[in-house]
Amino acid sequence: MAIPRDLAWPAGKRAAVSLSFDDARTTQVDQGLAILDDFGVRATFYASLSLLDKRADAWAAAVARGHEVGNHTVNHPCSCNFGWGTANVLEAYTLERMEAELLEANDRLTERVGVRPQTFAYPCGQKFVGRGTEARSYVPLIAKHFVAGRGFRDESCNAPQVCDLAQLFGVDYDCMPFAEVQRWLDTTAERGGWLVFAGHDMGVEQRQAVTRQVLEATCRYLTDPAKGFWVDTVAAIGTYVQRAG
Ligand SMILES: [Zn+2]
Repeated sequence: MAIPRDLAWPAGKRAAVSLSFDDARTTQVDQGLAILDDFGVRATFYASLSLLDKRADAWAAAVARGHEVGNHTVNHPCSCNFGWGTANVLEAYTLERMEAELLEANDRLTERVGVRPQTFAYPCGQKFVGRGTEARSYVPLIAKHFVAGRGFRDESCNAPQVCDLAQLFGVDYDCMPFAEVQRWLDTTAERGGWLVFAGHDMGVEQRQAVTRQVLEATCRYLTDPAKGFWVDTVAAIGTYVQRAG
């Protein structure tokens, strides 16, 4: 189904694409940033504080070059079902604790990279705290404190004229062959949508990683002027969509 084109992308672009990568993993600064910079592609990085601290100066320099560092919480809370421990699982959180930690992560990231986070990525793509009758959505907190919040393992690009910026779809980019990347990009262009890819490690061949070859091919395709993509950070495109809405 074609999306009605009420919202025109700037400068006659056909569609928008954001590349985002989570957890501030060291391969992102050691391998990924140089590839993106070679193509002049700005990306969004949702940072784990402990990993960001391993390369704090490099991350601050990346932000100074136009990349975005976004909030990914202090403790990366996900469901207890992952079996990662008991203290920081979403089922044990309250909205009050979540809000306090979101703001703490904002303060600490601002201190590290010099810019206050404008967007957020839900750890594990999960958007609740508590359990059963006490479970609550924390989407309203993201809407209150950020321009946009990105999910994970979603199944579509975003429809810019109607999407909830606090629940942007994020499409899993890890281990995706370029033929599939191209299908996603072409579909997004046909629909006039905004695709947000969500990956983890960069420039290496392993689980939860985007290889150098796929990243370079993606950047080459995205920056081909004939394709008509607006490639920018989640904050830049989110701000544009917010103002146009
Ligand atoms: Zn994460």
